[in-house]
Amino acid sequence: MPEAPNMTQKPADYNLELKNKKILQFIEDMTSNPDEVQKDVLEEILSSNAHVEYLKTHGLDGRTDRDSFKNIMPVITYEDIQPYVERIANGDTSPILCSKPISEFLTSSGTSGGERKLMPTIEEELGRRSLLYSLLMPVMSQFVPGLDKGKGMYFLFIKSEAKTPGGLVARPVLTSYYKSSRFKDRPYDPYTNYTSPNETILCLDSYQSMYSQMLCGLCQHKEVLRVGAVFASGFIRAIKFLEKHWRLLCNDIRTGTVDFQITDSSVREAVMNILKPDPELADFIEAECSKDSWQGIITRLWPNTKYVDVIVTGAMSQYIPTLDYYSNGLPLVCTMYASSECYFGVNLNPLCKPSEVSYTLVPVMAYFEFLPVQRNNGVSNSISVPKTLNEKEQQELVDLVDVKLGQEYELVVTTYSGLYRYRVGDVLRVAGFKNKAPQFNFICRKNVVLSIDSDKTDEVELQHAVKNAVNHLMPFDATLAEYTSFADTTTIPGHYVLYWELSLNGNTPIPPSVFEDCCLTIEESLNSVYRQGRVCDKSIGPLEIKIVEPGTFDKLMDYAISLGASINQYKTPRCVKFAPIVELLNSRVASCFFSPKCPKWFPGYKQWSNTN
Ligand code: AMP
Repeated sequence: MPEAPNMTQKPADYNLELKNKKILQFIEDMTSNPDEVQKDVLEEILSSNAHVEYLKTHGLDGRTDRDSFKNIMPVITYEDIQPYVERIANGDTSPILCSKPISEFLTSSGTSGGERKLMPTIEEELGRRSLLYSLLMPVMSQFVPGLDKGKGMYFLFIKSEAKTPGGLVARPVLTSYYKSSRFKDRPYDPYTNYTSPNETILCLDSYQSMYSQMLCGLCQHKEVLRVGAVFASGFIRAIKFLEKHWRLLCNDIRTGTVDFQITDSSVREAVMNILKPDPELADFIEAECSKDSWQGIITRLWPNTKYVDVIVTGAMSQYIPTLDYYSNGLPLVCTMYASSECYFGVNLNPLCKPSEVSYTLVPVMAYFEFLPVQRNNGVSNSISVPKTLNEKEQQELVDLVDVKLGQEYELVVTTYSGLYRYRVGDVLRVAGFKNKAPQFNFICRKNVVLSIDSDKTDEVELQHAVKNAVNHLMPFDATLAEYTSFADTTTIPGHYVLYWELSLNGNTPIPPSVFEDCCLTIEESLNSVYRQGRVCDKSIGPLEIKIVEPGTFDKLMDYAISLGASINQYKTPRCVKFAPIVELLNSRVASCFFSPKCPKWFPGYKQWSNTN
């Protein structure tokens, strides 16, 4: 297996060109014989975990070859390993899933039973994540030269962490990464030279973190060559923050002082190392921000920016028009594809159009398998993947090098940290090949109907939430005849909209407060990632119910049939995206109501006592 390039060089022997060359060669090697690499990866995972309880229970008996593995081990979802995960969380340190000690839990934005999924991880995975990060800039610098001559303005944040009853930390993967010494004490590297000092990223208070990162980004505006955040929604949130707070920020730049609301002393100190009184810069920013139009604000305030580095694939594609507007059409670059379970791959052609982005899975990260999925034609264009697989379906999984161009697959991973044939829940389509390694378009997250930020709400959760809410209508002898939903990102932050058509049997008018209660009940019933977005990150706005006129959903059906849907098979879509359908619904709105307050959210898990 090719060696990963050594990432711990000291400034004295720093040679950027050589380092980039080595990394690009590593990518060449990886993609030239992915099947061998994959075979070695599986062998390594299975031999080092030969004695773990999970593999023994299934009778793998120390075998490490692909055939035995595929014949014996089931393809699973989170619910299948949840009992094992709970034992680890409760303090069982025996080798249950992995022979190496579990260092912490990564909390996924995917949920189970309304709570974030918990992914056990091991110390060495940090090295694999760092390896994937190290590939990004050498790839990018092939297309955009000179990126080592300036800085990146990235808005990066940590989230709160909890402790399991057994004492392990549980937190999102990026929080884990930013708090690790790999990030905090990273050696000199012009490509990880950010405008945000570590202290501003590591501040848990999201207002102080955003304010201080923005202030540092503005102070160093001429040095900034690239801007970004992890997801598009996060970057737009930063622009919105600037729109709201530029006067305060300009005041700080003018005087060289930090606003009193920034109370964290380490943040203040880090910002003061950068901030100098600069009335000229303050005048410039004030002049730009007070103009009527904010079109191109990114290129106006950070004139040397060459691209916007944010994920705009999958659900995030809804933000492309807004980003284009603020950045005057700068390239939107999606560099990587990753998850709490495992970091997967990189985009080797980063300047391509967002609609053409494909990710090359890096074969050393995990053992990858692919479950073919069928697309149901018709208006819903839904994707059909069985929830549990029978033996025949389990046989249909194919290896990385056996996927077919144009075919869609659900990604299944076997990781070093103890997931075996685990269904990630993402649907990918083969877009092409780099050497012998396939490249995948990200198609969608299975079953997700609504997403604004990192929240992922599926149809079952939505149905359950709506069911709880309609109880408020009972005293008025009203029932819900039909409903659908829409992720409205024309507001910043975006928010969920539910279109409701009612059957009214009683004569008592329904007061607005009842519909507001319905909005709040839905929010209270949604999963903890949604509620955290509402309460803590403020990345999701209040949920809205739009009451539509009687007959609206008949009109919707007529429209779908006029587009070719079969009348016999027609089912009301529980989520709409297609602009003419949203327009049709909006044209028949009789009244709208918003959630009057935030739903409840607490860090940690329902069943644990919290540490924060
Ligand atoms: P989490 O486990 O919370 O880190 O979320 C991981 C999930 O985010 C993945 O399984 C994908 O569904 C989504 N995701 C991550 N990277 C990308 C990407 N580049 N494009 C689209 N979706 C992504």
